[in-house]
Amino acid sequence: MHTARALTNSYDVIIVGGGHAGAEAAAASARLGANTLLLTGNLDTIGQMSCNPAIGGLAKGHLVREIDALDGLMGRITDQTGLQFRMLNASKGPAVRGPRAQSDRKLYREAIQAELFHTPNLTIKQAEVTDIEPQSDGRLYVHAHNGWIFGAGAVVLTTGTFLNGLLHIGKQTHAGGRAGEPAAHRLAARLAALNFKLGRLKTGTPPRLDARTIDFKQLEEQPGDEPRPSFSFLPQAMPAYQMPCHITHTTAQTHDLIRENLSESPVYGGTIQGVGPRYCPSIEDKVVRFAAKESHQIFLEPEGFTSTEIYPNGISTSFPLHLQAAILKTIPGLEHAEILRAGYAIEYDYVEPRELRHTLETKKIANLFFAGQLNGTTGYEEAAAQGLMAGLNAALKVQGKPPFILSRAEAYIGVLIDDLVTRGTTEPYRMFTSRAEYRLLLRADNADQRLTPKAQAMGGLSGQRHAAFSAKMADLNTLRSWANGTIIKPTSPLGLAVQRHVGGMAASLSVFEVLKRQGLTLTEVKTYLSNFPITNSIIEEQLIIDAHYDGYLQRQHTEAERLAADEALEIPTGTNYSTISGLSIEVIQKLQQIQPHNLGVAGRIAGVTPAALQALWHHLRKETTL
Ligand code: FAD
Repeated sequence: MHTARALTNSYDVIIVGGGHAGAEAAAASARLGANTLLLTGNLDTIGQMSCNPAIGGLAKGHLVREIDALDGLMGRITDQTGLQFRMLNASKGPAVRGPRAQSDRKLYREAIQAELFHTPNLTIKQAEVTDIEPQSDGRLYVHAHNGWIFGAGAVVLTTGTFLNGLLHIGKQTHAGGRAGEPAAHRLAARLAALNFKLGRLKTGTPPRLDARTIDFKQLEEQPGDEPRPSFSFLPQAMPAYQMPCHITHTTAQTHDLIRENLSESPVYGGTIQGVGPRYCPSIEDKVVRFAAKESHQIFLEPEGFTSTEIYPNGISTSFPLHLQAAILKTIPGLEHAEILRAGYAIEYDYVEPRELRHTLETKKIANLFFAGQLNGTTGYEEAAAQGLMAGLNAALKVQGKPPFILSRAEAYIGVLIDDLVTRGTTEPYRMFTSRAEYRLLLRADNADQRLTPKAQAMGGLSGQRHAAFSAKMADLNTLRSWANGTIIKPTSPLGLAVQRHVGGMAASLSVFEVLKRQGLTLTEVKTYLSNFPITNSIIEEQLIIDAHYDGYLQRQHTEAERLAADEALEIPTGTNYSTISGLSIEVIQKLQQIQPHNLGVAGRIAGVTPAALQALWHHLRKETTL
């Protein structure tokens, strides 16, 4: 029951939470010109990395490039604050290469804050949000613990692990959103009262160590790549130098100790009920689940340029502190390591993401959007990608403009959101390249070509990015036309080289065709040609990928277009599925619950069979031709 009180202020869009989803949502909404308020529990922890200070990696790196292509923050800030950069899978095909960086945790947070505090159209305030109150006119009131009430046309909730957060260290538990910050109980209760379907998940983090007490001399060093693979398509001023990581391993002694003490772990002792991340398990989970494995790798990652804190990646744990210390003593190099902060696990509420539309707006309450870990995902990148999309769509909705939805053939962001809202999740969801059907189209290197024009059309692109993208595309088009238009005769010096290295060349070929046959590198081709128009390694790489994968790319494009034509068949809101013949009761219930907006989305709902889809297709075709 709410008492009638005057509004403190009104905004177009309010973002609740200043983590990775909240930061992107606030910046995106403000970029579109919406008068935006970011309301978060603590101004000082805006942009805080709750777990390890690493961004990107396989598939996650693709998400960051896509966020950057849409003019988001994460790629630029990672480049500005990274202390180590690597390209994972560098020796494999371009579709599965993933840039990864470790940022200086403090610099990252400060850079995000500096950016947000100077963003036009954005106001930032500190308060705990306790209630969301829908109004009869579709507006939403946001109540804070201190008595503030703000009105908004749309609200984006990005509360991460804070809803009913419960921290575990051994048998000890205490309420918290993450270490050192309070949990959000009142908002969790309010979401339950609004009938959102909530579930319980868990995640964990390792103890942090003092670098001065680690014996690095006996460990393998892992330097960053040179030149540094960056995230942003806009060149950033990067830190002056990179820092190395070190690698160590768990031992038989570590595994024995863990097995002997499993009952002390809150997961195996039965205190934790929430489901943990399958692909980022705790060390106790790894020892139990992969019992035959004798050792697990641990990366010792520096937390900052000036800090002595080390993040031991690979030994997340919720054992009691004395066991955390005992485990370290069994690991080479860490025998005398001092713990600076304890490892812990956290359980928290999440919202069943099938409660959401593809815009990330909730189906139950118009103009209310959810993004980030709240929707059952894990990871900064997954959170940031959703935040960006929810922020854009909240602003577009308030401005009366069409929504911005990316399909599975256009972006990993499209795959992420489509998976969440059509399939739902019962365990922390993270992105993998294997989740995407069109991996060759959705490469990290071409994210700008796929998405920047869309951001431009929406009006959410800075002048600087527009200029940089236009210049790049002009160069790329020049190079492509040159490669297609420059004809090599079999009797020319290059033609003879082709015959020597690749084999028969009956007729003249374009440079593009020569590159396609993959016998000669571009550098070799260039030695024979004096009129090479562009010398820029990024542009050249694009030409090579175009040439080497030409056939596959064409095929994936055709397939994606064919699918898009059928997928795009719209399902009118309010369709009564029970009147469509050929649908089982289970399928009818699923379609009614998820309310897919088109045939493609309907087809990806678990339980919707090809036969059911065909029945739906016939029904829609009949309706549209009447
Ligand atoms: P968060 O970063 O959690 O941000 C939530 C924001 O909402 C905060 O700013 C908070 O102050 C604010 N907020 C919450 N409630 C309210 C309220 N009522 N009113 C106002 N503001 C509010 N990810 C991995 O990929 N791998 C891992 O191994 C991993 N381990 C983790 C271990 C721990 C202990 C934790 C806490 C997280 C871990 N994560 C891990 C997850 C990663 O931190 C999140 O995926 C990411 O931070 C989610 O971003 P977010 O923006 O959704 O939420």
